[in-house]
Amino acid sequence: MLDRASKTFFHLIAQSRTLKKLSSRYGMRKPSSFARRFIAGETAAEAIEAAGAVEGRGMAVTMDLLGESVTSLGKADAATGDYVAVIDAMVAAGVGRNISLKLTQLGLDVDKASAIDNLRKILERAETAGFFVRIDMENSPYTEVTLEIYETLWRHGYHHLGVVLQSALYRSESDLAAINAFGGHVRLVKGAYKEPKAVAHPKKADVDAAYARMLRALIINGHDPAIATHDPVMIELARTIAREHNVAPERFEFQMLYGVRRDLQSMLVKAGYRVRVYIPFGREWFPYFMRRLGERPANVTFVIRGILGETG
Ligand SMILES: Cc1cc2nc3c(=O)[nH]c(=O)nc-3n(C[C@H](O)[C@H](O)[C@H](O)COP(=O)(O)OP(=O)(O)OC[C@H]3O[C@@H](n4cnc5c(N)ncnc54)[C@H](O)[C@@H]3O)c2cc1C
Repeated sequence: MLDRASKTFFHLIAQSRTLKKLSSRYGMRKPSSFARRFIAGETAAEAIEAAGAVEGRGMAVTMDLLGESVTSLGKADAATGDYVAVIDAMVAAGVGRNISLKLTQLGLDVDKASAIDNLRKILERAETAGFFVRIDMENSPYTEVTLEIYETLWRHGYHHLGVVLQSALYRSESDLAAINAFGGHVRLVKGAYKEPKAVAHPKKADVDAAYARMLRALIINGHDPAIATHDPVMIELARTIAREHNVAPERFEFQMLYGVRRDLQSMLVKAGYRVRVYIPFGREWFPYFMRRLGERPANVTFVIRGILGETG
């Protein structure tokens, strides 16, 4: 209930122009600015530096050039070019070869065929450079089309490609069974978006219960599963399921967000598990930042303190 209310609240304030202006002005200004807790920087160079530090702690990375809901083909083409440049910069810097992206950033809202073309351009460059590409999952109006594009590209031989399923959605358990059956790669998350009751579990307890069921199906029947959560209960459950089914720690990975539960990230590495940190960067950080606040309203206090500190 609280979870739903806080997601609704942050969804509403995410539309506030004043807040966006204030945040954009102060959020990333200095290394100590408040948005930097979750966002590695506005440039690829800053993100690559953050990635190097994460790798130095024994973890892998995936880089996300922030951007979504692009409204023109010109902007979608620009985002595609930017992603190719990020791949090249990562290769030059020698950081881990893994990126995450969103289809609406590549023009899905404008023209589906162009978005697929753009994705293929990135995939071609990624394949030559030995990258894995993950399509992030956006809110429920995009679930069907994202999974359809994923499966089509998979059938065309793009196997260095993965997708994300959200346990919040009723449909996800059957989507997982279908993807496991054709060999696809799934990152399992609870879901970051405010969704209508018609498509998603309204209660957090039900989202968690679905996550636990999907975890079992993913670890036992999945292919290079990515368990993306900061929830210690789910992490412990994953470890137990893997042990019980003799799934070695090299056969799956935990994923967490940059700046969230660094203690847990290190604990898992020490215990011999693979951990990948999702590193977001870029100028379009506001919607991503608001989703992180919505997950944990306690984060708002440090943002308000940050704004007051910077303006005062
Ligand atoms: C690598 C990765 C990729 C993701 N990709 C997607 C995606 O493509 N689509 C999508 O819808 N969602 C995505 N998410 C977000 C996900 O859906 C959840 O919204 C988010 O992970 C919070 O859920 P949780 O599993 O950590 O559990 P929760 O039950 O929400 O949280 C468990 C604990 O984690 C900590 N925590 C969680 N969030 C925060 C935070 N923001 N700040 C501080 N502490 C926090 C708290 O200690 C909390 O008690 C991704 C998450 C990760 C880790």
